[in-house]
Amino acid sequence: MNAPRLTLLGSQHDALIEYLDGHPENHERAAVVLFSRLHVSVEGLPDSDRYIAKEVIFFDEAWTNSSSSIHFDFNLASLREIFRKCEEESLVFGFVHNHPQGQAMFSAQDDGNELTLLEALKNRNGEHITFVAMLWANKCWEARVRTAASPDIAVPVRHTLVTSDPLQIFGYQNSSDDHSEVHARGAAAFGKPFVDKIKSLRVGIVGTGGTGSPLATLGARAGIGELVLIDDDELALSNLNRVRGLGKKDVGEKKVQKLKAFIDGLELSTNAGVFVSKVDEDPLALDGLASCDVVFGCTDDFVGRDVMNIALYAYAQVLIDLGLGGRILDDKTGEPVLRYHFGRISTILPEDGQCLFCQDVICEVWIQTQLERRQNPDITEEELREKYLEDGGDEAPGVGPFTSATADFALATLFDLIKPFRRFPQVLRRDMYQVDFVKMEISSHQSKINHDCPYCEQKEFLLMKEKYRLQRPMIGKRDEYV
Ligand SMILES: [Zn+2]
Ligand SMILES: [Zn+2]
Repeated sequence: MNAPRLTLLGSQHDALIEYLDGHPENHERAAVVLFSRLHVSVEGLPDSDRYIAKEVIFFDEAWTNSSSSIHFDFNLASLREIFRKCEEESLVFGFVHNHPQGQAMFSAQDDGNELTLLEALKNRNGEHITFVAMLWANKCWEARVRTAASPDIAVPVRHTLVTSDPLQIFGYQNSSDDHSEVHARGAAAFGKPFVDKIKSLRVGIVGTGGTGSPLATLGARAGIGELVLIDDDELALSNLNRVRGLGKKDVGEKKVQKLKAFIDGLELSTNAGVFVSKVDEDPLALDGLASCDVVFGCTDDFVGRDVMNIALYAYAQVLIDLGLGGRILDDKTGEPVLRYHFGRISTILPEDGQCLFCQDVICEVWIQTQLERRQNPDITEEELREKYLEDGGDEAPGVGPFTSATADFALATLFDLIKPFRRFPQVLRRDMYQVDFVKMEISSHQSKINHDCPYCEQKEFLLMKEKYRLQRPMIGKRDEYV
């Protein structure tokens, strides 16, 4: 099994460190973070164990027996209410404290505190529980996870990810592996921590065609540690002008499987897992998506985009969504002319950027039209109009250099989130820009702010409680899977 990964929102991280570092006499302080745990299996990858911070609770003065700059002693009984909440809401208890004097390691006293807490939690909530400990010292998070079944084993986390802009990744493994020469140029441009951070990430790619396949292959070359590839389509002859890693012999085969075989064949440090299905229909594929730290939306499917758009809030993920659009007209002689043709890159964080609805990338009518077409593939334009439905999206010819270039911009966007290097001019939005390959311009359009938007403004889905996956009964009940 994979080492656990922790995710905190930027606001949770900021609130925690302000509190922990805020004691007037520089004493240690403590807090509780309640996590939801997503334990997910993906074929081709080790099991994923992802903990998403749901709630931060600061220690009340009354819970503290004594404290100094080198110790913190608390009253166990005062935590009983929180233990109860953990059981009732299937949350994992996380004990957080700081070392104001900077010792970056958990101490022997910390071991003792954790075992006391774990014992009390086990007695209250049962043998199956896990327990997270986080330490803030020297402006870094250290974290580890224990289980009630083997309390003496403290498993260090693979990383603690903070979904701020830029991303903050703490506690990642310092690599000294055989692939350092492969990544020497990346390290030369962005530093060795960049190489180690990107290796620590699990990245989902939904759609593995014109944009998804170049992203996956170049992402593997860039050293992304784990890829989750999701697509139910077969490769068509007409795709061969733009896909990467696939050839004529693969026509008729499932794209994701052939793409995984290609990535495996590169023999780099990337592991790829696959789902031959749709994220909006297959509960296991959605769980696979939820196990990712970062998701690239590389589909032209509005129903799939709708799911990724809600998932980024529910599962505290980064969504980088790509699309192409343009217009082809005929000239006087009847020859086609590309009037404009652009690649769009949207970058949405749980607490930053407009959602795909507000960016006018998806809308309810287009989603409903696509669902209708899936049910009734022979539906006519007139029948659609009678139902007040219409197809959406832009005309995109699907020409290799343009789809690839869009994928390249999107991967570089992930680089920029890990190690900022871009200098955005005032006229460009960080959450959405378009590269026009005809007009040779990079631009952002201004979309109106909808203060009622349940996604990016009202945050109704941020860290939402799920009875059904994403509260969509057709994707299955959530408690089947923890
Ligand atoms: Zn300590
Ligand atoms: Zn919105």
